[in-house]
Amino acid sequence: MSYLPIQQLLKTAPINTQVTVKGWVRTKRESKNAVFIALNDGSTINTIQAVAEAGQLPEETLKLITTGACVAFTGQLVPSQGSGQAVELKIEDVTIYGPADPEKYPLQPKRHSLEFLRELAHLRPRTNTFSAILRVRHALAFAVHQYFNDNGFYYLNTPIITASDAEGAGEMFRVTTLDAVKPPLTEDGKVDYSQDFFGKETNLTVSGQLEGELGALALGKIYTFGPTFRAENSNTTRHLAEFWMIEPEMAFFELEDNMRLAEDFVKTVIRYALQHCADDLAFLDNRLKEEEKTKKKEEQSEMGLLDKLHFVISNEFVKLTYTDAIDILVNSKPAKKKQFQYEVSWGVDLQSEHERYLVEKHFKKPVILTNYPREIKAFYMKQDADGKTVRAMDVLFPGIGEIIGGSQREDDMDKLVARMHEVGIEPETLWWYLDTRRFGSAPHAGFGLGFERLVLFVTGMGNIRDVIPFPRAPKTAEF
Ligand code: ATP
Ligand code: MN
Repeated sequence: MSYLPIQQLLKTAPINTQVTVKGWVRTKRESKNAVFIALNDGSTINTIQAVAEAGQLPEETLKLITTGACVAFTGQLVPSQGSGQAVELKIEDVTIYGPADPEKYPLQPKRHSLEFLRELAHLRPRTNTFSAILRVRHALAFAVHQYFNDNGFYYLNTPIITASDAEGAGEMFRVTTLDAVKPPLTEDGKVDYSQDFFGKETNLTVSGQLEGELGALALGKIYTFGPTFRAENSNTTRHLAEFWMIEPEMAFFELEDNMRLAEDFVKTVIRYALQHCADDLAFLDNRLKEEEKTKKKEEQSEMGLLDKLHFVISNEFVKLTYTDAIDILVNSKPAKKKQFQYEVSWGVDLQSEHERYLVEKHFKKPVILTNYPREIKAFYMKQDADGKTVRAMDVLFPGIGEIIGGSQREDDMDKLVARMHEVGIEPETLWWYLDTRRFGSAPHAGFGLGFERLVLFVTGMGNIRDVIPFPRAPKTAEF
């Protein structure tokens, strides 16, 4: 039996023809004369209304058409009598694929809390909110590939299992086939990784950047888009243990080029979502408005989701140095009234509360902060002439804080090696990385965008666990 996705059916609306739809029942409403069923197949936020006359369907069939059941309806598509939909399907034939016992099916046609739905990650894609998020997520992923392809970047797949640690040890997941109870030991009692699968200690990647740089210094412009793992033991609304990161890396780009690219890239993919996910974003905009109403007046956000997205794509991001940002923060009201949980002064790593003050209160715009103190940034960032700061850039977004972290990379072999010694990285362990500086080094730059932080922003959701199908976080790996 051929059938049309509901999204296409509603768009083409072939009136007075016989059509078949297949999907999951959202609601069933019975009146004196008829029974109305809202069916959704995940192709769109919209449902199609299927109608049967009272008494038309056998009682035992009708009993199986309940919320969550999977069914197919065949019948004429006709203009709808009721308000709320343009067309409806007059049921002539019903197939029940899979009933859903209403006593046991956990999703009911009412608003469930996001916390409750997190416990049902296997079923929550069947709700309006999560299906909308997943479609927007798809569109953004597609837009990412399209953007880079259109701009001459090559998609580079960097390894998921690595023996290097780009960001500093401590938050990596080990990959091993050694016996967990009785691993082989060296003479001094340590685990003997030379007997492990790869002959050395290996972990899941925390970033594809170092390998990305190798690609950029061969192909010119590359990007990665892959799973990334951090054993972050912090239960925040912005961190996952498994997330997807997009990391472009470009030869011959300096910090300013890097900033320009980051801004254009983010705006372009958001614009794509606005153009291609209008129905889903309208739904999410409305969802957020309802949620805001439940908050105290002073905590309600001034802009709706769609307003915010349009605002971001039509305004230039603010660009300022870390040093200037510290000035603003030190002289800010919350600093003077000691309302920040963490104190600010030149040299500290900015906390999310500081980033959000700058973005949400002070500038009310996305902000790109640059030239951070070298002590709080990674060893590979290019040092400024003053010897104090590095050519780093963080892009900060309202409601999120850091969405992008990047930098121009140190291309001077001697400075890079000196910095590695300072932070305690044995240069020999990264001999292959240093070879790029040894042979044909070039100025280059890149950044990392956490894909889920982008999806968080575009969907207006508040918790990063709600924008990935199956979140991985401390004590969370059920599905
Ligand atoms: P944060 O300070 O928010 O932890 P970070 O400085 O550790 O971020 P980077 O190492 O620069 O982040 O990684 C680049 C980007 O990856 C970040 O800007 C962010 O968008 C994303 N990111 C980092 N850690 C996580 C995480 N645990 N879950 C989801 N996204 C993340
Ligand atoms: Mn982090």
